[in-house]
Amino acid sequence: MAADIPAFEATALEAIPQIASTARGAFRTHRTKNMQWRQVQLRKLYWAIEDYTPQILAALKQDLRKSDFEATLMEIDWLKKDCLFMLDNMERYAKDEKLRAPEVPWTFSFMNFRTRKEPMGTVLIIGPYNFPVQLLLAPFVGAIAAGCTAVLKPSELTPASAMVVNLIISRLDPTAFQVVNGGIAETNALMEEKWDKIFFTGSTTVGTIITKKAAETLTPVVLELGGRNPAFITKNANLALAARRLLWGKTVNSGQVCLSQNYVLIDKDIVQPFIEALNKAYKGMFPNGAKASPDLARIVNQRHFHRIKKMLDETDGKIVMGGGMDESENFIEPTAVLVSSVKDSMMQEESFGPIFSIYPVNSLDEALNVANLVHRTPLSLFSFGSKAENQRVLNEMTSGGATLNDAFSHASINTVPFGGVGDSGWGAYHGKASFDCFSHFRTISETPAWAEKLMAVRYMPFDMGKLRI
Ligand code: NAD
Repeated sequence: MAADIPAFEATALEAIPQIASTARGAFRTHRTKNMQWRQVQLRKLYWAIEDYTPQILAALKQDLRKSDFEATLMEIDWLKKDCLFMLDNMERYAKDEKLRAPEVPWTFSFMNFRTRKEPMGTVLIIGPYNFPVQLLLAPFVGAIAAGCTAVLKPSELTPASAMVVNLIISRLDPTAFQVVNGGIAETNALMEEKWDKIFFTGSTTVGTIITKKAAETLTPVVLELGGRNPAFITKNANLALAARRLLWGKTVNSGQVCLSQNYVLIDKDIVQPFIEALNKAYKGMFPNGAKASPDLARIVNQRHFHRIKKMLDETDGKIVMGGGMDESENFIEPTAVLVSSVKDSMMQEESFGPIFSIYPVNSLDEALNVANLVHRTPLSLFSFGSKAENQRVLNEMTSGGATLNDAFSHASINTVPFGGVGDSGWGAYHGKASFDCFSHFRTISETPAWAEKLMAVRYMPFDMGKLRI
């Protein structure tokens, strides 16, 4: 481990109730409700990310062999932009909103209705391993801006990144913001505590466990869950472009991206040219083969390497691009598999790695039927076709977000709402949505004394004759 990243140490289970209670206590001091206090915390977060940039780069290299390019673009700069955007806009988001007609009828306007944005309270943020810094700290930006106190639980699968998150958070208010390190046992201990909101990013399986437990204390949960995302390609697509863009989606973080396509549904007449275009795009990105590229991340650990390998071992399909792997360095080559059954493991399981399947269809009708059968509510979908075909895909299949003619560019900026639908997630964040996500919208009215005459009708004894509805 790099000298300046402390060794990973799980938080003692006995310490967790105290950590939660300290964060709750910090909220009860009401200091987080002060806008300047929040802004100071966000600035501290920005500068901690800036100052610890070498450690973040080193940690991501160690945990995932993430390139400096991807780490800078998708974790460090992303988060710095998040902080700056929030600092520019949070005062506006936090302002009371006067409620007017038509929501408030003129007959009630004297009651001065408004919405006050209040912090939810003390929140728990649980992160996954694939973007271990960004996916933990991006929701945290929203929590700080909204005036919450927070406990963060980074993924234990990326221990160096988790420790850098500890360093970063140690620069902020030490009682309002704390980190718990660990895996299942520590998360379970955290789930024994009462939170005002839980923000979970991870798999659908664990999201279900968290939600069940949260239901016991009626704790609201935001869920950012898994993929199994389809890509649709029709005869009207630009095949070279579709191939290059979809391959890009599977090379980012070695396909360990919740948004990347799990399978491609393509008109049977253009399957061969698409495979040729894919291989050509591959050669453009990896002239010496993917393994030799310094840019391609590695699979996070042996368990996930074997999970992905098993999908390739069990498929009845044919590998038409890639297929190489090297267990000694958790390397899996970007791989496309031509399959003929919807039941194939390559269609049914989330690959969450650099592999995806290609399933030939006779028509867009068939493609839409298959996609809706495989997963009715994916996190994202991609459509490469004519304008009318793309519109049809949007109309006839839902998803958390969607990109036309590209791979997940709908999630490429940090200020527009991002989230799943159905079993790919509940709730959204990024930009204003992050602020709203951690805020309670409290409706306030204020009835002036002079209005007593106007309201005389409501007092007993009632007189039906005076009711005007
Ligand atoms: P995961 O669900 O295994 O782990 C997420 C978090 O839950 C970790 O912090 C982990 O320590 C904790 N955890 C794991 N098992 C637990 C258990 N049994 N009880 C309590 N807590 C537990 O997810 P992962 O493997 O880190 O990430 C991959 C998954 O996350 C994929 O399914 C991917 O699609 C999804 N993901 C979704 C998004 C999104 O924004 N929608 C983003 C990234 C990843």
